[in-house]
Amino acid sequence: MQQIPLRTLSTTTAVGGKIHVRLTEGRFQNLRRLISGPLLLIYFALVWVQVDGRSWLLFDFEARRILLFGLDLAWHDLPLLAGLMIAGSTLLFFAAVGWGRVWCGFACPQSIWTWLFIRIETLTEGRAALRRKQEKQPLTGTRVLRRIAKHALWLLAAFVTAFTFTGYFVPARELSQQLLALQPDIATVGWLVTMTALTYLNAGLAREKVCTHMCPYSRFQGVMFDADTRTVTYDAARGEPRRTTGSSNGDAGDCVNCDLCVQVCPTGIDIRDGLQYECIDCGACIDACDKVMEKIGKPKGLIAFKSENQLQNKPSKLLRPRLLGYFSVLLITTGAVAFGFSQRSALVLEVLRDRGAIVQHNSRGEICNSYQLKLEAVDPSLSSVELSLRGPQGLYLNGPATLWLGDQGSHSQGYQLCSRNDSLPPRVDITFVAQAGDVRVEKASTFLQLAR
Ligand code: SF4
Ligand code: SF4
Repeated sequence: MQQIPLRTLSTTTAVGGKIHVRLTEGRFQNLRRLISGPLLLIYFALVWVQVDGRSWLLFDFEARRILLFGLDLAWHDLPLLAGLMIAGSTLLFFAAVGWGRVWCGFACPQSIWTWLFIRIETLTEGRAALRRKQEKQPLTGTRVLRRIAKHALWLLAAFVTAFTFTGYFVPARELSQQLLALQPDIATVGWLVTMTALTYLNAGLAREKVCTHMCPYSRFQGVMFDADTRTVTYDAARGEPRRTTGSSNGDAGDCVNCDLCVQVCPTGIDIRDGLQYECIDCGACIDACDKVMEKIGKPKGLIAFKSENQLQNKPSKLLRPRLLGYFSVLLITTGAVAFGFSQRSALVLEVLRDRGAIVQHNSRGEICNSYQLKLEAVDPSLSSVELSLRGPQGLYLNGPATLWLGDQGSHSQGYQLCSRNDSLPPRVDITFVAQAGDVRVEKASTFLQLAR
């Protein structure tokens, strides 16, 4: 399938200086609000949600525990989280093949926070046109005060973001108590300062540079797109040659060259120059242009989510093998992760043989093997575990029959397994059995008696 080549083009507003983004309204801005509003609400609210006195979502590195929406995950469940991330990436690829960088434009935290910071900037320093004009004028006392207000609000927003983020690692209530008592630990202070600085820099100062220079996704999007991918596109056949605003030249295209599509672009590009890696498919230029078309009595959609084939009036299928392939991979990875979660046991038993001295002799001359048993309870109500062995007659286990898991919910214990049975073969299959209440787990291993 033919790939659309990416071009890096000079832009009208992104060169040498700050981009003052003009805010616009329209269906894509509404859609973004519809997506980003609930996401922001979830991000800021979820950190406070507790069920039975425990956080609903918490990555507790100290206790080596992850509380995931009511599920208790232990360290050995990390592959399941990795699986979730793989499923999430597949969803991202699926969306990219179908509709370009819609993730970037509508749901990426960098975009959501950048729009939030742009709104604060508009609130404190005025609209984009005014800011652009004032940039060429000398600073006045009022403008200094407005600028201070902007940075103060940015820092406040960055701190609240950082506090919330840290609250997913240290319970938010505990964290707020530490801060109110002015006794935060040094690691917490480190997290708060780093995250505040990163949010302030990324959403306030770096903005589109993160999307265009730092995010790897923008670089490999060309590989994902094909001639049927719907991306934000300018219909040059309809728009060119451009006319000046108000002109009624019959030969001219529909573009009145008002530049509004450039002024509203958060990455400062001119979509009329063609597909560019800087475009995050946010749809702001579509909304701005649709309004212009409405005003001059032309059909909307001079800029629209269209594929290359659609622009050339060729048949263009959204549902095509490539998209369906990604959808199948998405179903498979999601199914595999769901199966992994359904197979989790409340108790995990690991058995490690002593590789240093596989066969030993005890004081009675019996052949023994050493094992290290590690127990980890995912369910914190499991505190004591009965340990037993299933195997041929004559084998017996040296070590405690009951293990206490303690506050950490885990315990590691060395055992020696010895044989009183002279007629056993050189290699015997055995099973360690751990029972905690109704929960029972078994782990197969071997007993070796190579020399006698
Ligand atoms: S907003 Fe539409 S009409 Fe105005 S310059 Fe852009 S493409 Fe042309
Ligand atoms: S060109 Fe349009 S869709 Fe792309 S980033 Fe700019 S405003 Fe958003």
